[in-house]
Amino acid sequence: MTLQGLLHKSSGQTAWLNPAVKIASEKLIERCYNQGIEIRIVSGYRSPAEQQVLFNQGRTTPGNIVTNARPGRSNHNYGLAIDFVLIKSGYDMKADTDGNSIADWIDVVTHAKTLGFAWGGDWTSFKDYPHFEMMFGLNIDQLQAGRRPTAAQEKAVIDKIKALEVLPVDEKRIYELEQKVATLTDAVSALNKRVNIESNQTVPKAYEAAVIAAKAAGAITTSNDKSKAELNMIQMLYNMGLYDSAFKVLIAKAKEGDSK
Ligand SMILES: [Zn+2]
Repeated sequence: MTLQGLLHKSSGQTAWLNPAVKIASEKLIERCYNQGIEIRIVSGYRSPAEQQVLFNQGRTTPGNIVTNARPGRSNHNYGLAIDFVLIKSGYDMKADTDGNSIADWIDVVTHAKTLGFAWGGDWTSFKDYPHFEMMFGLNIDQLQAGRRPTAAQEKAVIDKIKALEVLPVDEKRIYELEQKVATLTDAVSALNKRVNIESNQTVPKAYEAAVIAAKAAGAITTSNDKSKAELNMIQMLYNMGLYDSAFKVLIAKAKEGDSK
């Protein structure tokens, strides 16, 4: 199955979603597909008539009750919600077909949350495990009264999703920087072996900020045993911003991207 084929399988359900929710849904299918998990959107936008048919099920028509929402009372009626199913394992929430020791269902949930969806499985009163939604700060009463997400809100969601795509480039850059740091660190330890280090010296004022940042970042544990060469190296890595918390966040993000 190609990604195009997979997207096509769900297109009948995603076509009439809110534009931001539609993009997020298609990205969800794509992210799962890239991980070897195929999903299908079994319900997206529902018209009031379709909601009525669903509400009748288990009440006036055969089958199990599947919803408590009358027409106009489901987030699906405003194109803000989707329900999915695993193509290989259906509604088996424990199946792990990609072998990453995390249930495929939870992998899908993780991707959905990354894309900005809230998950029905997190609800406390009634858990709706196949359900994701984006409410843009609106509740069902406001939606029923005619309020809708603004264009700016939709753009913010779409921009956030686009930003996720930039990550592989950053990952490559981080890898290069990590290689450089490893090389420099080796060079420093080689130098240290050759330089006679005075113990219990105090850190010269000029290097203080860099040494503090290096300690905070966990790069060094002691500061009063560093040679001049090592202090210079610490200062240089500090100047490059490698002890910044922003850099750590970038690495954490890249690792998060790796795990997909
Ligand atoms: Zn739903």
